[in-house]
Amino acid sequence: MQKSRPLLILPDGRHIPPIFLGTWDIRTPEQASMAIKAAMTSGYGGIDTAACYENENLIRQGINDSGVPRSKVFITSKLWNNAHGFNPALKAFEESEKKLGSIDIFLIHWPGPVHSFLETWKALERLYDEKRVQVIGVSNFMMSQLDILLHECRIKPMINQIECHLWYNDFMLLDYCRKHDIAVQAYSPLSAGTGLLRDKTLIEIAEKLGKTPAQLALRYLWQIGVYPIPKSSNPKRIAENNDFFDFEIPVNYMQKLLSMNRLVRTNKDPLQWFDPEYR
Ligand code: NDP
Repeated sequence: MQKSRPLLILPDGRHIPPIFLGTWDIRTPEQASMAIKAAMTSGYGGIDTAACYENENLIRQGINDSGVPRSKVFITSKLWNNAHGFNPALKAFEESEKKLGSIDIFLIHWPGPVHSFLETWKALERLYDEKRVQVIGVSNFMMSQLDILLHECRIKPMINQIECHLWYNDFMLLDYCRKHDIAVQAYSPLSAGTGLLRDKTLIEIAEKLGKTPAQLALRYLWQIGVYPIPKSSNPKRIAENNDFFDFEIPVNYMQKLLSMNRLVRTNKDPLQWFDPEYR
């Protein structure tokens, strides 16, 4: 069984890691240090953070404490809604970079109005040209927003980080990203604690395959070509969540899992929501 398949291949031939640790709600130095140590020990190659999580300093400290060389960890950060526009975006990047030491992947967190995300994107292209980041991308972009961006941009977004889990699959958006060679990272892959892991169908299939519900939910994403960012601050669960590469979900179970799609989000709808002040 393939242990890791490339998410994105960089110009130097390295692969983006298949799994990143989510860190939303990791707020204390103790939590950060423990979670990052557990993630590094169990083989995660990446950490996902964002300016609005207000934990970028803690993430840097956590990586230092873990003893893993910085060069072995991919860090994603995201530009917050109050920093759209060319100059504000560059400034926001610098602020995040100062806190994190360096950033590998930089994403626009939410699209907001078209005129502002197009200006913001030019700043991300500049950062990429100057090799200050290895990957630039977006988050919460829907097809209509990607259409505009792809039409106007000089460098294509390489990642779209979106809500995706067994209860919420936007298959049209997934197909669109695949067609345009945009890698998809799934946020809230376990439905952000809203009950997916207690779903009867999920539990039944997990038991039959000898896996936990979380492992099955993550493996499902992997099999549909999406790369999960599970968050946990519990070391046992952090290890459990990276242990889904050694089994295959058979077609009949995949069909049952696909039928769990309810198209109900746990997060905001990117076409309807944008609040620069919200955190
Ligand atoms: P997740 O779907 O990762 O779920 C996290 C919840 O599941 C926590 O309550 C956690 O509790 C629990 N959990 C984790 N693993 C297990 C397990 N094995 N068994 C049982 N429970 C488990 O939700 P998030 O919303 O946090 O999404 C993940 C990451 O995605 C975020 O942390 C963030 O980095 C990113 N994100 C990005 C967004 C964007 O707009 N781009 C929006 C939202 C999230 P515990 O900690 O106690 O284990």
